[in-house]
Amino acid sequence: MKNKLIPYPFQANLYYLDDKTKKECVNGILKRKDVKISASMPFLRWSEAMFGQGVTKYFMKPYNRKLWDYDLNKMTAEWTGEFVPKPDAEIIVNVAYSKNKKKYGYNSVFYYPKVNGCGALIDGLTKEVKVNLNSKTQKIDIRNKIILCSSGKIYKYNRIVSTQALPEFVNQITNVPSNVKIAVKNLLSNSVRCVNIGVKSEKGIPKKLKDKHWIYFHEPQFSFYRAGVYSNVNAANAPKDCYSFYVEFSSLNEKYKNIENLLDDFKNLGFIRKADKITAVNIIDIPYAYVIFDNKRKKSLQIIKEFLKEHGIFSIGRYGAWEYSFIEKNMMDAKTLAAILNKERFV
Ligand SMILES: Cc1cc2nc3c(=O)[nH]c(=O)nc-3n(C[C@H](O)[C@H](O)[C@H](O)COP(=O)(O)OP(=O)(O)OC[C@H]3O[C@@H](n4cnc5c(N)ncnc54)[C@H](O)[C@@H]3O)c2cc1C
Repeated sequence: MKNKLIPYPFQANLYYLDDKTKKECVNGILKRKDVKISASMPFLRWSEAMFGQGVTKYFMKPYNRKLWDYDLNKMTAEWTGEFVPKPDAEIIVNVAYSKNKKKYGYNSVFYYPKVNGCGALIDGLTKEVKVNLNSKTQKIDIRNKIILCSSGKIYKYNRIVSTQALPEFVNQITNVPSNVKIAVKNLLSNSVRCVNIGVKSEKGIPKKLKDKHWIYFHEPQFSFYRAGVYSNVNAANAPKDCYSFYVEFSSLNEKYKNIENLLDDFKNLGFIRKADKITAVNIIDIPYAYVIFDNKRKKSLQIIKEFLKEHGIFSIGRYGAWEYSFIEKNMMDAKTLAAILNKERFV
């Protein structure tokens, strides 16, 4: 913020703000209206009720507008669960005048593979499970319990566990009732463009990025909302004398159609030195990235899930369950479902 890094989370680190902004944030908390806080409230009203007008104005509104790329008055606060730390008002005010020492957030500590990055998780799983690659499901015939794949293969099934994005998956099913079709149309998400960059630098990583795992950018002059450094998470994520980082944009940003513009902005930000050599640029477009929580999501999901369950189909994972979650939860949910299905099989 204003060219200075504020420790995470913003609301528990008002200490680092300039006097004027700090005063507005503290006053905002002290002057909060006495309303009953509920996750089904529109996000901005929830944020003002929870953190006050100042924190909402300076961080929650600009950051989330950028991340979700959606009208924050039309979103609920149901997604905030474990993703938005909620220190008590008293703590927020206290840490405005003395440094906060507590770590917040579900990912302040996490495990990461020593080699092969997150690919190591897949390597581990494929030792135990047979995987058919390049064979997309195309059609699910629920009457005859048959799956048709792009490879031409046909599978008979008793049950399906899918982790595909729910709208795409349901669209492959034959004979879907109209209420389920309408419910699917109500499911909203944003898209994200992730730009991965590899840099060779004899001087090592620039000071701005040193020791940083990831940084949130809430100010409107940056069109990306987050950047992170793979090689700081694990040095094995980049070759010797190199570092690697990612930058994430919600929606496909027009300004960065030309990668040179993006690299120029990073040089100006101090993420890349002028003398450093860009050795890799890789762009990944993620069509379904963050599920939008609005007041139609819950009811629509219930209709879809009931229909799928009737036909022995279970849709799980971040995009299958149409939720805001992370790898660890996705794996735990898969294990839990596998245990339930195995138990049913042997009853
Ligand atoms: C920008 C961004 C950053 C993130 N950062 C983190 C992070 O730092 N840590 C973290 O834990 N989580 C992070 N997440 C969340 C994490 O990526 C997801 O929670 C996780 O990948 C979901 O796993 P999954 O198995 O449910 O689904 P996916 O990983 O999406 O797997 C679904 C699979 O289905 C396959 N598929 C699709 N269509 C078909 C078809 N027709 N036939 C057959 N297969 C098909 C796909 O190829 C894919 O392999 C991030 C997400 C985003 C968008």
